[in-house]
Amino acid sequence: NTPLHEVDPEVAAAVDSELHRQQSTLEMIASENFAPVAVMEAQGSVLTNKYAEGYPGRRYYGGCEYVDVTEQLAIDRVKELFGAEYANVQPHSGASANQAALFALAQPGDTILGLDLAHGGHLTHGMRLNFSGKQFDVVAYHVDAETGLVDLAELERLAKEHRPKVIIAGWSAYPRQLDFAEFRRIADEVGAYLWVDMAHFAGLVAAGLHPNPVPFADVVTSTTHKTLGGPRGGIILAKKDFAKKLNSSVFPGFQGGPLEHVIAAKAVSFKIAASEEFKERQRRTVEGAKILAERLTAPDARAAGVNVLSGGTDVHLILVDLRESELDGQQAEDRLDEVGITVNRNAVPNDPRPPMVTSGLRIGTPALATRGFLAEDFAEVADVIAEALKPSYDAAALRGRILALTEKHPLYPGLNK
Ligand code: PLP
Repeated sequence: NTPLHEVDPEVAAAVDSELHRQQSTLEMIASENFAPVAVMEAQGSVLTNKYAEGYPGRRYYGGCEYVDVTEQLAIDRVKELFGAEYANVQPHSGASANQAALFALAQPGDTILGLDLAHGGHLTHGMRLNFSGKQFDVVAYHVDAETGLVDLAELERLAKEHRPKVIIAGWSAYPRQLDFAEFRRIADEVGAYLWVDMAHFAGLVAAGLHPNPVPFADVVTSTTHKTLGGPRGGIILAKKDFAKKLNSSVFPGFQGGPLEHVIAAKAVSFKIAASEEFKERQRRTVEGAKILAERLTAPDARAAGVNVLSGGTDVHLILVDLRESELDGQQAEDRLDEVGITVNRNAVPNDPRPPMVTSGLRIGTPALATRGFLAEDFAEVADVIAEALKPSYDAAALRGRILALTEKHPLYPGLNK
């Protein structure tokens, strides 16, 4: 029962420092969030000790009666939340969920059609160094250079030309909603399966602020730690016809023992995601992103060479376009870091700068909405970002404004030692 700081002071110190970093800066990486204490409590529980290969009621180990309860709660709650016929809550991560889903729908060598990584797609949608790119024949669709929107005409043309086994809809860096009915129509036209990866926008779907892909797709995957606000992990939802294939693809196909402590934490987060408080938080998330988009397209921002891809946002993130700015993505990321805002640089479509530098930033609002930020707070953050991206800026003054916001909205106050 010796506590962490006595067993391993080095790890304990790093954990404490990370808590302080999260408390004293503004987290605006679009894929991050703050898990509620109740979720972390479940995740840090004795369930980590339990082997439970198999599924509730059909395990290969004894003593699973309590993890059966938590895993079944997670399954039932997530099915209810998204209106799905089938759910698998065991994938260790979003990439694991995607791997299991893709191998359940297609065989190595089959053709898959996904959004190009450089246009906002994810590694697991066909990037050449990822399993998806190495083992499948990948065709990529793109966003339109003018509008910044997914080019559905190109998607249809490529689908007809290449007859893919699977069409992938979903993204890691895209500020608009996808037309799932149109994806379904194109998939049906060429006899492809439709797989939607809603990792980024699942929280918005749960809150009813974004179209739900579940009625349209054969299979839907997601992470549980982005807008959904739960523990790090993955899930797969599907029509019940795919249940057997998906279950065996996850276990024993790719995974061994499920992380029952994480699954219990997922169950808690799905309960929270069905609440009114969660809906209100997602509303502030989208509102905050719209406020950022408006501020970063104002005349003074445009004069500094700053713009926003697609002209705005419908979701929890914006993509800042720095192609006309003196600052590249790396420099802009560093500047925001200096004033206490954490974001990530991001390639813009047809980026003139190299991938390690880029000409863009991806900025998201989920973590700040969880922290309690209101419209007026997002307006203040947006103004600090606009000022920091100008040719000359007062780093100390901007850092002071960010610190004031962190103090106005304390994070995890109960965790301070
Ligand atoms: N799918 C999408 C669309 C993502 O953006 C991500 C994460 O960035 C993933 C899957 C992978 O999730 P994980 O990092 O949990 O493997």
